[in-house]
Amino acid sequence: MATTVREVLPAPATRSRSVSAWTLRRRPAMEETGRIQSEPWGARRTPVRCLTAALFGATRRIHRLKLRSSFEVQPIEGKGLGVVAMRNISQGEMILEDQPMLAIPCKDLDRLTDRDVEEMVKALPQQKQDFFWKLFDAEIFGDKRSAKSRVLTNSYPVEDASGHECFGVFNSIARFNHSCVPNVHNSWDIETQSETLYASRDIFEGQELCTSYLKPKDLYRSSQERRQLLQRLKFRCNCEACSLTGEDAVRSDQRRKELQSLTRQLEESDTTVRPSERAALLQLVEQAIGLIDADFRKNPALKCRVYSAGFELAAELADLEMASKLAKAALEEILLVEGSTSPRTMMLQQCVDLCG
Ligand SMILES: [Zn+2]
Repeated sequence: MATTVREVLPAPATRSRSVSAWTLRRRPAMEETGRIQSEPWGARRTPVRCLTAALFGATRRIHRLKLRSSFEVQPIEGKGLGVVAMRNISQGEMILEDQPMLAIPCKDLDRLTDRDVEEMVKALPQQKQDFFWKLFDAEIFGDKRSAKSRVLTNSYPVEDASGHECFGVFNSIARFNHSCVPNVHNSWDIETQSETLYASRDIFEGQELCTSYLKPKDLYRSSQERRQLLQRLKFRCNCEACSLTGEDAVRSDQRRKELQSLTRQLEESDTTVRPSERAALLQLVEQAIGLIDADFRKNPALKCRVYSAGFELAAELADLEMASKLAKAALEEILLVEGSTSPRTMMLQQCVDLCG
C-alpha cells in the first residue's frame, strides 16, 4: 500500500552525489553561522559565540513569525480545512519552513503494524499527538482510527540525513490542499532536514494556497486520469483545471498530453524520438515552456525541469553554448521557488559555473 500512495505524492528535491560532496565541503563554513552544529555549543563556548547563537536564534524566530503571518488555516467549502493567504504574497516568497514531526523510513513502513505506528505517535509531545490525530484520514486500510493510514494520507516524501527515503508527516504542511495548477512549490532540503514552501506565482489575500500531491508526470495526465489517481486519497479535485468545461477542458487535456509527450522525449533516454540536433532540441524546449505557461500559469518548478532536461541533452550533443543558456534558464526558475541554498539550486549553480 505504501507504494500505491507514494505514487501520487510529489517527488522530493533530491541531490546528486556531486552536490552532496559539495555541501559536505561547505559544512565548516555553515557551522560558523550556527546552522549546523557538529559538536555541542558548550564544548568551545565563548561569550562572542553565545551572542552569535542568541542573535541567530532570535532572527530565525522573527523570520518564522513573519512566515506564519502570511497565511491561516481556515475551513474551506467542500474541503474541510485549507490554507488561505492573509495578505498578498509575491512569487518567490518563502511561505513556510517546517521539520517533520514524524519521519518513518519507507522500507520500514510495510512491516510496521498500526500499533507500532501508534507507539511512535505516543512518543511525540502531547501537542503533536493531538495534531496528528486531527489529520485527515483517507481510511486506506478501511479502519476508522489508523495511525498508519494517517501517515500514508498526509506524508510528503523526505530523506533522512543518511539519504534514506522516508514518509514525513508535518504539522502545518499537511493542511495545504492539492491543486493541479499549484501556486505553492514544496521541496525537501536534506541538509537542514526541512521542507520549504515558496509561492510559485503572485497570490492575493484571501486566495487558497495549494501544493500538488501529484508528481509532474502525473500532472501532465488528463483531468479524468488525475481524478482516478487522487481518488486514492478520497477527494475529488475541483481546482481551476479540473473544473473547466467544454472546449476549455478539452484544450487543457490536450496541452497536458502534449507536455507528457514532449517531456518524455526530453527526459527519457530510451525513447527513439529524442532530438539529435540543436534546432530540434530548441523547438522541443520552447514548445514545452509555452504549454507550461498556458496551462500551469508559468510554473517555475515545471519550467526548471524542462530547461534542466534540455541542458542535459545539449551537453550530450556537446553544444556548450546551448547547455550554458539552458542551465542559466533552469537556475533562474528554481531560484524563484527553492531559494539560493536548496540542493537543486546549488546543483544548477554548479552547472552554470561549469559552462562558464
Ligand atoms: Zn485538479
